[in-house]
Amino acid sequence: MSFSTSGCENMPELPEVETVCRGLAGHLIGKHIVKIELNRDGLRFPFPSNMKSIEGLKIKSINRRAKYILIELENNSTLLVHLGMTGRFKLENLRGTPEKHDHVVIHLDDNSTAVYTDPRRFGIIDLFERGQNHPLLIKLGPEPLSSNWDGEILHSSIKNRKSAIKSVLMNQHVVVGIGNIYASEILYRSGISPNRKASNVSSTMANRIHKCTVEVLKEAIDSGGSTLKDGQFVDVNGKLGYFSHGFSVYDREGEMCKNNNCTNIIKKSIHQGRSTYHCTRCQR
Ligand SMILES: [Zn+2]
Repeated sequence: MSFSTSGCENMPELPEVETVCRGLAGHLIGKHIVKIELNRDGLRFPFPSNMKSIEGLKIKSINRRAKYILIELENNSTLLVHLGMTGRFKLENLRGTPEKHDHVVIHLDDNSTAVYTDPRRFGIIDLFERGQNHPLLIKLGPEPLSSNWDGEILHSSIKNRKSAIKSVLMNQHVVVGIGNIYASEILYRSGISPNRKASNVSSTMANRIHKCTVEVLKEAIDSGGSTLKDGQFVDVNGKLGYFSHGFSVYDREGEMCKNNNCTNIIKKSIHQGRSTYHCTRCQR
């Protein structure tokens, strides 16, 4: 099977996927999968033919790599899930009324279920063995919140790139997990124009982008986590984390810049078909 994820880097982004992972972990770890119900042949790609082999297995841990959710099972099996654009999990103590887009239902040994729902079906669910390299995971760049990434690494990976820094930040080979929304937020906080050529981003600027990336993503994860505590977690919604915090620049076209020393109006532009928001005075 061949995999391509081009053209599908909308939402959710790293913080939302991390939030979903944490929510799933709290509900699934330690339980056994009694049954996996597949209500169609596949999503973005066909489901693997051995999907039923996970029935009876215990869920050992749940981790995130980039925007992939990795559900680690007994027998060295890993269930890989990507939420695509509209994928989400619903956790139900007892299976509720099936909804139209409930494509996969994981039945657990305490009668609860984790239901994967995805109207647009850009999501991915696959199964692979630990130790094997899943083709979707091989070429991924560094995790932005790990010690494998810093301003110097960013600088050296972008200094020969002619594209705009915003597009480069969203390139999953450069750094993973940043999409359209957080790219705008990070560059606003860094004071760097989304239109600046990546090759014109200095080492100092790259260090600032790294620092702001870590701050912005961590704050978003924290706000996603606080949403979970509010008990809204019945829907493990990929969009969940977006609702609980206001953006500094994203989706604020025509509104006043949030910098106290600036009276500029936030400008919206379209880059490669994607909305970009920035302050032309604060971001250079
Ligand atoms: Zn401003």
